[in-house]
Amino acid sequence: MACDRCGAPAVEWLRYSGEHLCRAHFLDFVERRVKREFRSQVDLRGGERIAIGMSGGKDSSTTAALLAKFLENRRGVELVGVTIDEGIASYRPQGIDYARRLCARLGIEHRILAYADTVGHAMDEVVVVDPEAIPCSYCGPFRREALNRAAREVDADYVATGLNLDDTAQSILMNVARGDIEKLARMGPHETRQPGLVPRIQPLRMIPEKEVYLYALLSGIEFHDATCPYAERAQRGRFRDIVHRLEEESPGTRHAIVSGYDRMRPLLQAKFPPAALNACARCGGPTVNEICKACELRDRIARLETARELESTS
Ligand code: SF4
Ligand SMILES: [Zn+2]
Ligand SMILES: [Zn+2]
Repeated sequence: MACDRCGAPAVEWLRYSGEHLCRAHFLDFVERRVKREFRSQVDLRGGERIAIGMSGGKDSSTTAALLAKFLENRRGVELVGVTIDEGIASYRPQGIDYARRLCARLGIEHRILAYADTVGHAMDEVVVVDPEAIPCSYCGPFRREALNRAAREVDADYVATGLNLDDTAQSILMNVARGDIEKLARMGPHETRQPGLVPRIQPLRMIPEKEVYLYALLSGIEFHDATCPYAERAQRGRFRDIVHRLEEESPGTRHAIVSGYDRMRPLLQAKFPPAALNACARCGGPTVNEICKACELRDRIARLETARELESTS
């Protein structure tokens, strides 16, 4: 097949629009979309620092490479790569290596923050202490906490994540299916600044996962191509399958879910404006409650550990 724009051999067929694109036009297409999205999410006046949550995977590596490219000639705006080490021995160390190498290549600072230091436990320990739980139900809040803490430590004005279109459509459907309209209204990207919380931006939120993968391959971005050993137990997997099926049957569904959500968002936010945040009574982190979710989970781990110790000594 030939590229619809120049006639060169096509590398990708965008099923949802029917367009065939060659390598150069595909890369250009992705870059333009991401740049537009990035610009709509940030207000850069110079002097800002943007932290990028980098797992070493394709999404966050592509985010880092693209932001570095967009900001190449923009003096005064700095990027900092931040990797959260969840403590998953069979998976995370390789991801850290990829993130470190990419940061070195892009000439940006790289920091690592481990759950061992924020939670006090590696995820490999958490799954032993609470074998019944879905690991991501711990890991999600712990990661949000660690990423925010790392972003604050590097004085970041924004923290960018690699969330792609598939992830975004899944999150919207998950919140709808749970009837969690407040959470739906408060999904990123964040438009307001709240004390203690670094606003999250998501430059890839309109790029399908497959296109992120292809972009990374075609532009020579090396990334860690592996899946977390605990991912199969995640609830998100069901929604991944649902979104995949909907898109197969009706190309363009993911874009429609996210664009439809964006049109609804002002209405939802009028009903549920950003909640006033308190400092968690335990750790001082931002929370809508008295105690933050990460502290609640830390308490739960401590209780389970005590119960295990008592059991083993009785
Ligand atoms: S899949 Fe779940 S357990 Fe694994 S890194 Fe992601 S959130 Fe953590
Ligand atoms: Zn072309
Ligand atoms: Zn707390």
